[in-house]
Amino acid sequence: MRKRNRQDLNRFSKVALFSLLVLLSIVVVVIVTAVFFRNPKMYKDFEHFSLGTYVHLKIATKSNPDLIAKEIFAEMDRITNKYDPYKKDSILYKLNHSDGWFEVDDETFALIELALRYAKNTEGAFDPTLGRLIDLWGFSNFSEKLSNNTDFQIPSDIEIKNALINSGYEKVELDYNRKAIKTNGVWIDLGGLAKGYALERAYQIAKAADQECNGFVEAGGDIRILGPKFGKDFWIIGIRNPRGSDSIDYIYLKSGSVATSGDYERYFVKDGVRYHHIIDPKTGYPSNGAISATVISNDAISADAFSTAAFVLGVKNWLFIRTVFPKNNSEVFLVSPDQEIYKTHGFTNYEKIY
Ligand code: ADP
Ligand code: MG
Repeated sequence: MRKRNRQDLNRFSKVALFSLLVLLSIVVVVIVTAVFFRNPKMYKDFEHFSLGTYVHLKIATKSNPDLIAKEIFAEMDRITNKYDPYKKDSILYKLNHSDGWFEVDDETFALIELALRYAKNTEGAFDPTLGRLIDLWGFSNFSEKLSNNTDFQIPSDIEIKNALINSGYEKVELDYNRKAIKTNGVWIDLGGLAKGYALERAYQIAKAADQECNGFVEAGGDIRILGPKFGKDFWIIGIRNPRGSDSIDYIYLKSGSVATSGDYERYFVKDGVRYHHIIDPKTGYPSNGAISATVISNDAISADAFSTAAFVLGVKNWLFIRTVFPKNNSEVFLVSPDQEIYKTHGFTNYEKIY
């Protein structure tokens, strides 16, 4: 009788052990599956029209992606409205139409101060004081003009000369104590870095919600990486052919930002000549030293500002770009008007997986 009991017990413990092993295997499989396949399933895509272009957010997060997207897009709309210098209720409109010293909020002061620093670093190729020229050329309300089929006019030499007299970053004075700005007649236009600023704010919002989130935010071709693909891989980004719709190069990024300035986004053609929205501060005319400039930087504001600057500097200033830009953590890919490609030494590091 006792022997039988023991046999039963043995059999019972074998069954229990077996069940435990099966259960353990299931748990292991579930955990492994969760770890390896969690991220791909979690990617969510969002799209929103802001900053005069389509903004696309791709994000994987353990936090709430819908809430993050909502916050990011609201922030982008806020930036668009606050820094449109041609809308009467914007801070820049008020500043540009003020006499003497004008006190601004912290954010505006920091942004204008930063823009003026980019102007100094690029010897004025990036110039945030070209508002009068941009307005004169019809790029202040370009989208409305396009949809209304408005005929674009080429400004006269005299008009350009007058607008040039009232442009130039060196004219702007800053009072750091009072957070006040004196424009001395220039119109500030932050269009050359506003998109970068909005992308950088998007990055900050996403990271504040979830430090480990990954994906990217893209606005009209400019990209801010949130983190590596699936937490470990490179994002592969194509550089658009400025005279086609294909890609002429590919870069690999796990972090940082990339921006492109080209003559193919906002332009009009008059008598067979293309007039685009990036102005050479030296001449007051659309710059003609390049047809596209792509910059990789640690942050989206630098990438945006330096891509505009590289575009303006163009091929004839390639030596300046090649020496100065990498010192500012910016690697450049430039396409000349005859479609030759110029790259800074460090740019090639992003063209391969290492
Ligand atoms: P996009 O906004 O198409 O990506 P950019 O970043 O190069 O292109 O910015 C172009 C915008 O910057 C123009 O629409 C105008 O508002 C402004 N801008 C034009 N010329 C200059 C310049 N030389 N320096 C700084 N900003 C400029
Ligand atoms: Mg730019």
